[in-house]
Amino acid sequence: MIPYSRQNIEQSDIDAVLEVLQSDWLTQGPTVERFEQAVAQRCAAGYAVAVCNATAGLHIACLAAGLGEGDWLWTSPNSFVASANCARYCGAEVDFVDIDPLTWNLDPRALKVKLQQAERDGRLPKVLVAVAFAGQSADMRAIAALAKRYGFVLIEDAAHALGASYAGVPVGCGEFADMTVFSFHPVKIITTAEGGMVLTNRPQLAERLRLLRSHGVTRDPQQMLDASHGDWYYEQLILGFNYRMTDLQAGLGLSQLARLERFVERRRALAARYAQLLQGLPLSLPSAQPEANSAWHLYVVRLHTERLATSHRQIFQALRQAGIGVNLHYIPIHLQPYYRERGFALGDFPEAEHYYSQAISLPLYPGMSDAQQDEVVARLSEQLVVLPQRQEAANA
Ligand SMILES: *Cc1c(COP(=O)(O)O)cnc(C)c1O
Repeated sequence: MIPYSRQNIEQSDIDAVLEVLQSDWLTQGPTVERFEQAVAQRCAAGYAVAVCNATAGLHIACLAAGLGEGDWLWTSPNSFVASANCARYCGAEVDFVDIDPLTWNLDPRALKVKLQQAERDGRLPKVLVAVAFAGQSADMRAIAALAKRYGFVLIEDAAHALGASYAGVPVGCGEFADMTVFSFHPVKIITTAEGGMVLTNRPQLAERLRLLRSHGVTRDPQQMLDASHGDWYYEQLILGFNYRMTDLQAGLGLSQLARLERFVERRRALAARYAQLLQGLPLSLPSAQPEANSAWHLYVVRLHTERLATSHRQIFQALRQAGIGVNLHYIPIHLQPYYRERGFALGDFPEAEHYYSQAISLPLYPGMSDAQQDEVVARLSEQLVVLPQRQEAANA
């Protein structure tokens, strides 16, 4: 089976973890701090806060933004459920903004219309989570302008987008988003097994994120309300969590980060090669978002299902049976039973739903060979049998 994604682990990664294992610290310690500094530097961000996974990162980013009961968070329906669930953890309500039919990212035109209506209704969102789908930022310039106009906090869910850039600056640098969240899950760009990081340029947010990550407890005398009782003293200032990353994970992360440019370069080369090899087939390729340079976490195509002899589902199954580990990103979040229970229904976000009826994620990861990619394209091509009569009948 050629998987849709796969981690890349070398001897240097194993050595890095062993080194931490033999040191004085296993849980969050000096290696986490070094990893945070390295990611902040790579992304040109002021502050980076490592967490145990990106879902926890989204949760504390929302809390740091002040999201709570009675508030609204908006996001794209074309994402992993974590992009929406973070609001529910805070007791806030979720709503969605439909996607651009070409980039498959949250559509700023739909956002603008929805904001105008929400302003009239007195229901403006407090937080917007803009997902960098497949590794490519949304139209962050337009979204950030709307954030300024309507006063919401802009969080970029960049789980797919470490190593990407937008408007000539790295994703995570804080030029457009107030906070950016990365994931280091094994299928993502680099891995720490489980892991994530929140980046920001605002010191108050960074301080809040650090407290929330670690029980709401501080050992910093500057932050304390009372005078110290002695060297053992710490204070719990707010209700926080244990969302820490371990030094073992950070050791792996540092070693992976050293190969980030190579990983992204290979992903970009494979994406360019897919675009070439798939030309002329009855499918749509990913469209470039102006100003974005994707990290290519995913390579998604949309089948021209109306012209094909077999259904989207049959083609998907046939590819899996042929050893091609295709996947589907994403089932629209609003159609999940949990969200349907909360009032959403089929038809609410038609672009995301139409996309879902056609999308297939093809295998893409740094260790994939050209030969494996040729195999994927050959097996896919076999499945795409066009019905010319149907087109002619429709035109008659
Ligand atoms: C993977 C992913 C997450 C969650 O990341 P974890 O580190 O697994 O918690 C959040 N958002 C998106 C878009 C993702 O793809």
